[in-house]
Amino acid sequence: MPVLWLAGFFTVLVCFSITSITLWQLRQTRIHELELADTNVANLSRSMAQQAQDTFDQADIPVAGIVERLSYDGFGAATSSRMHEFLRATAGSVEQIQGLFIYDKDGNWAATSMNRMPENANNADREYFQFHKNIDSTLPHIGHALRSRTTGDWIIPISRRVNDSAGNFAGVVLATIELAYFDRFFDRFSIGQRGVITLAMADGIVLARRPAIDNVRGASIADGELFRKYLKENYEGTATVRSVLDHELRLYGYKRLDRYPLVVLAGLSEDEVLEEWRQYAWRSLAIIVCVVVANLLFGVLLFQQIRFGLNAESQLRIASHSLEKLALQDSLTGLANRRHFQEILGLEFANGQANLHPLSLIMIDIDFFKSYNDNYGHVAGDKCIVAVAECVRSNLNRTGDLAVRYGGEEMAVFLPYSDAQGAFLLAEKIRLSVLTRALEHQGNPVGIVSISLGVYGCAAHECTSLEEFVERADAALYLAKHDGRNRTEIWQGSSVVAHSLA
Ligand code: GH3
Ligand code: MG
Ligand code: MG
Repeated sequence: MPVLWLAGFFTVLVCFSITSITLWQLRQTRIHELELADTNVANLSRSMAQQAQDTFDQADIPVAGIVERLSYDGFGAATSSRMHEFLRATAGSVEQIQGLFIYDKDGNWAATSMNRMPENANNADREYFQFHKNIDSTLPHIGHALRSRTTGDWIIPISRRVNDSAGNFAGVVLATIELAYFDRFFDRFSIGQRGVITLAMADGIVLARRPAIDNVRGASIADGELFRKYLKENYEGTATVRSVLDHELRLYGYKRLDRYPLVVLAGLSEDEVLEEWRQYAWRSLAIIVCVVVANLLFGVLLFQQIRFGLNAESQLRIASHSLEKLALQDSLTGLANRRHFQEILGLEFANGQANLHPLSLIMIDIDFFKSYNDNYGHVAGDKCIVAVAECVRSNLNRTGDLAVRYGGEEMAVFLPYSDAQGAFLLAEKIRLSVLTRALEHQGNPVGIVSISLGVYGCAAHECTSLEEFVERADAALYLAKHDGRNRTEIWQGSSVVAHSLA
């Protein structure tokens, strides 16, 4: 059944190929989607970082200018109305600056961009003031996000130290940056429903976040994997991590600013990034399931069809075999029929020249059969013919020997490898085995069924004509009848030699 196996194998192979190709393609498109998102978050974090840097730079420029001026003109210039005007104008024109302030060396307010200066106000307790007082550095300092004492807004201070001409601490110039400014800026970007943009201090304290969640400003995300691992190793990169704030799995682009201790994170939800891909994958899988099921059904049909075909073929073979048998066999005795006999003889004689073996023929006829029929009836007559046929068949043991019902109660045995002597011995064996059966036959003088046989054998080169071959065996049979029946005669030359072993 290799065809059946092949059909099954082919069906499974097609299903397997379609499924594996689709799964491979889905895997590739998923990788592609994630790579694309990776590039997006990397670009986004870079542009956020640049914007944050610019925001602080723009706020620091006037601070640095004022420090420069106070260092040269003396701290007294801080209280001038010109300075107040300058602070007011600058804060008004730079969007992110909420206010500009100058404090003297004791933390007392010397000037502000605001219209009204609170009386006896002192900021000596603020972290940035203590920082500048204690550390002699001219670099800008970014403090912790805090709520403004005057407006209540969340702000982040950027400040510089003022030195007097002797290099001693003379005070602090401060610009406060409104954190809401970042919120407005972050809102301009499309990051999906569950994306996030965060501006945080380098130590993990959140300054601004989109989307804003309760109490997020000032909260620490230092425990998150980004701060614990990635930002420790690189100042810039991408990573897929779970948020410590809302536990969403995101693809993050992160970047630490070059000049300020600030970090920008831009994250896209992996779920959202893969949303379209997931729909595509479900659609593809649904199609694949349909194709595979259809293919399996087709395979089963094909399988059944092939099996049906094979069954039909084998039944046809059996039918044609039995037809062949029917065409070649005598239905009563099961011996070959005359047609078959003539075919075989015809074949043997057709290549008569090539035959190097002798050929013999025994012709058999039941004695007094007419009277047998008359005495015992036709049915018994048929049985008798079958019994004689049995005796003929049971004595044949060489392959190639062919027993035939020649017609009526006449039979013949064709012996393609026996000479006349061999054929004679076999003929006698058959005759004796019929006698041994001792079938009652009152019409026969011997009282039982007997047969007469005529034998003709020829050497390879003598066998020339088919008709002659049969006629000579027939003539020998005729002689056997003539000589009293129940005997075997061999045809030899023009005369027929009679023999009998009984
Ligand atoms: P002989 O000894 O000379 O052969 O005498 P016979 O009576 O047998 O003569 P013959 O061989 O001519 O007999 C042929 C008879 O065989 C004629 C017919 O009644 C009978 N016969 C032929 N074919 C069949 C058959 O198929 N069935 C039966 N029951 N009888 C058959
Ligand atoms: Mg006869
Ligand atoms: Mg007869």
